[in-house]
Amino acid sequence: MDCIFCDIVSGKEKAEIIYQDENVISFLDIRPINYGHALVIPKTHYENFHAVSPEDLNSVISVTQKVADAVNKGLSTDGINIIANNGVASGQTIFHFHFHIIPRFKTDAFNYRPVLKSYGSGQMKEFADKIRIAVKK
Ligand code: 5GP
Ligand code: ZN
Repeated sequence: MDCIFCDIVSGKEKAEIIYQDENVISFLDIRPINYGHALVIPKTHYENFHAVSPEDLNSVISVTQKVADAVNKGLSTDGINIIANNGVASGQTIFHFHFHIIPRFKTDAFNYRPVLKSYGSGQMKEFADKIRIAVKK
C-alpha cells in the first residue's frame, strides 16, 4: 500500500522523529501551523479514528499526552491544540490515522474562528436523539 506515514514507520521516508515505542511513533509535521507542530500515529496502518483498534488508540492517546507535555515544556507554549481530521470533508489528507499536536502562542497568526450555529426549538433534542440511538447500536 502507498502510504507516506507507513514509509516513515519503516524508515523508507525520513522524518524528524521525537518519540517512538513498539506501537506508536511521533514526528514533526513537514508543513507546520507553528514550528514544533507534531504528529502522533499508530505504527499499524488504520485509515482514520474510527478504524483504530482500542489497544492502539489507548497507546496513541498516552503518547499524545506525553508529546504534548514535551511540546509545552520544550517550546514554552501558551497552549496546545490536539486535533484529528477524519474524512475528506474534515480536511484529512493523509489516510493513516494521526493526531496533530499544535503549539499555540498568544501572538500566533493561526485563527480558528468558525461561524457558530444556533439550534432552533426542539432541534437540539432531534440531533441528540439521532446520536443516542446510534450510541446504543
Ligand atoms: P491531515 O491533513 O491528514 O490531517 O494531516 C496530514 C499532515 O501530514 C499534514 O499537516 C502534512 O503537512 C503532513 N505531512 C504530509 N506529508 C508528510 C511527510 O512526508 N512528512 C511529514 N513529516 N509530514 C507530512
Ligand atoms: Zn499508513
